[in-house]
Amino acid sequence: MNDRTKRVLSVGTHPDDIEIGCGGTEALLAQRGFEITHVILTSGEAGSDRVPPWELGPVREREALEAAKVLGAAGVEFLRYPDGLTGFSREMKVDIIRMVRRIRPHIVFVHERGESSLGHRVAGELVLEAVQAGAGPWFQEAGGGPWSPDLILGYEVWHPLGRYGLAVDISATLETKLKALACHRSQTAAVRYDEAVRGLARWRGVMSLSGGDAEVFEVIRVSQGALSCFLT
Ligand SMILES: [Zn+2]
Repeated sequence: MNDRTKRVLSVGTHPDDIEIGCGGTEALLAQRGFEITHVILTSGEAGSDRVPPWELGPVREREALEAAKVLGAAGVEFLRYPDGLTGFSREMKVDIIRMVRRIRPHIVFVHERGESSLGHRVAGELVLEAVQAGAGPWFQEAGGGPWSPDLILGYEVWHPLGRYGLAVDISATLETKLKALACHRSQTAAVRYDEAVRGLARWRGVMSLSGGDAEVFEVIRVSQGALSCFLT
């Protein structure tokens, strides 16, 4: 791993959350040379009323791999926690600390804290807890040395953010985002996420005055100079 490479860790509860929440921004960062890893907590096996969970999980994992490739992500890790998170265990926290210390991300994308989905909120809380603990000397069973990301951004999925701290113009990568989203065929066959994403991106673009299409984020943590990667 080149030490000068800037790294991104994106965490999603389900296989399509990252594409919906921050796919356009990720595609921009990939074009700028960032090395991006997706960590997907559950394989979304509960996400259908027609396909049984044991069949749907592997299908959704394949869709996630395909979508990550479209965005330019370097890798995807599946943690395979049971879909329908209502809380997290100490073991899960250690898993995420291990992941953070191994990847050593400069930027972390995770669900914003006001999400209306409980599973998404649990994932957000788990990641923030793990980042906090992973920055110190504790949890030695997770291995690696302490690591602290420069920037943690909360992305929106089910619940539009009422207030946000960062808007990113994704006009150049909106079509890539939609192409990645279209890989999630098991989901988009039932729900027109593409229409929701296109509409929200345009609304965010107009209302943030970027003029084009945009994604917005809750800025959960920021270190000095960390936002410079979004300046053109
Ligand atoms: Zn989700």
